[in-house]
Amino acid sequence: MDILFAASEAHPLVKTGGLADVAGSLPRAIKNSQTEIRLILPAYPAAITNAGKLKPVAELKLPGTTTPVRLLQGWLPHTRVRLYLVDAPEYFDRPGGLYSAPQGGDWPDNADRFALFARAVCSVAMNRTGLEWQPGVVHCNDWQTGLVPALLSLEKERPATLFTVHNLAYQGLFERDRFQALRLPDDWWSMDKLEFHHQVSFIKGGLVFADRINTVSPAYAQEIRTAEFGCGLEGLLEYRSNTLTGILNGVDYQVWSPGRDSSLPYAYTAHRPAAKLKNKCALQKAFGLPVEPGLLLFGHVGRLVEQKGIDLILQLVPKLLQRSMQLVILGTGHRDLENLLRQANSLHPEHIGIRIDYDEKLAHLLEAGSDSFLMPSRFEPCGLNQLYSLRYGTPPVVRSTGGLADSVVDATDANLLQGAATGFVFKNANSRDLLQAIDRALELYARPDAWKTLMQTGMREDFSWTRSAAAYRDLYTRLLDP
Ligand code: ADP
Repeated sequence: MDILFAASEAHPLVKTGGLADVAGSLPRAIKNSQTEIRLILPAYPAAITNAGKLKPVAELKLPGTTTPVRLLQGWLPHTRVRLYLVDAPEYFDRPGGLYSAPQGGDWPDNADRFALFARAVCSVAMNRTGLEWQPGVVHCNDWQTGLVPALLSLEKERPATLFTVHNLAYQGLFERDRFQALRLPDDWWSMDKLEFHHQVSFIKGGLVFADRINTVSPAYAQEIRTAEFGCGLEGLLEYRSNTLTGILNGVDYQVWSPGRDSSLPYAYTAHRPAAKLKNKCALQKAFGLPVEPGLLLFGHVGRLVEQKGIDLILQLVPKLLQRSMQLVILGTGHRDLENLLRQANSLHPEHIGIRIDYDEKLAHLLEAGSDSFLMPSRFEPCGLNQLYSLRYGTPPVVRSTGGLADSVVDATDANLLQGAATGFVFKNANSRDLLQAIDRALELYARPDAWKTLMQTGMREDFSWTRSAAAYRDLYTRLLDP
């Protein structure tokens, strides 16, 4: 089986969120003696630097552009996964974010950038680059690769296509003039193809044209067929429901295990969890909080956006101050949320520690040093931080949605009795329900033996990629032999 895996970010080359964690670890887990899988990414400057040794292997002639495009070949670091970087300096060699300019806001030419990337992916997929290799399946991820299944549908002898939705809320929507400038077939400007409310939708390229669609948890695969979670695409997803499945993401335990995490000052395991407390003290110091080993320390890491329910936590600040607890948050995102968090920190420095930053190492310490991880997401396609929290003995408090619902077992009396509980689950996205779950966590924390059992149950759960990789191999097989 030969697979081409196309994504717009992959750890450790470039990362803005969970997609990078998946694209950086799933291909390695999928690759085995029967499955060759190669990764293709845009050649952003950081990707070139972090990839190490690269060599140019092809000059690409792409429709609709005269800009020079080269294909660079290397390896995904520390793996045997072949890496291709699409080197188009005019489109990808610039300072700033992967999708946004240094001063904020999307790059104005994002439609052109990811259309060019899609065309380069198709060129490799159709074996037109002189690599003498043709995949049987092209596995695309999120809107940045949405045009790939659409463009491949125009080819005769084409590979099968799988489109994975990591987050339906980001759709790659652009004005009509972009559609014209990209010279896409005229009949794609229709509701049943790429048009979405008078704009061109890149994600629809994947959702309409891919042979199969999947998403990153079974629960989210169901949810996106409803108006509450479908972002206006629920009708299309319902229509395609016989080709839509959900596979829960896995965790790269080589990177995320408290027993061998080089970012942590103190290692610990489920069997010997005692040193977790030393990490807690280090975390309290790092955030300028009083070092209080006995207070329940809640933590959160993530993009500061409405999806993640940070506003629900902020609404609760006055109530949280009345409880014996501390809170630390690491994140970047919307300016107003950043400012409200800074304000909470300056008003209540004894209780609330805030770091507005993107800091990989600190994220690891926060997972290890917190007692419990808050994840009150309004929706969560899979979510990785709750999976990390489970492994780090940091029982998460989560809303029952998407991958959170699929991975955390609520600490009800019955589940506690059976030794199955791993965290605290609440139903509705409001601060009252969140507070009830926080209070349940505080109550259980006051019973050290019960808390230790909860921690250890989560730490022993296995969310490694092995199972998910086998499920993806199954999907590929079904695509190759429908
Ligand atoms: P999403 O993909 O919606 O951002 P996930 O929970 O799936 O959410 O994955 C987020 C990933 O990004 C995790 O690995 C998390 O640790 C990381 N991350 C997010 N924000 C930060 C930050 N400010 N500093 C360090 N890591 C972060």
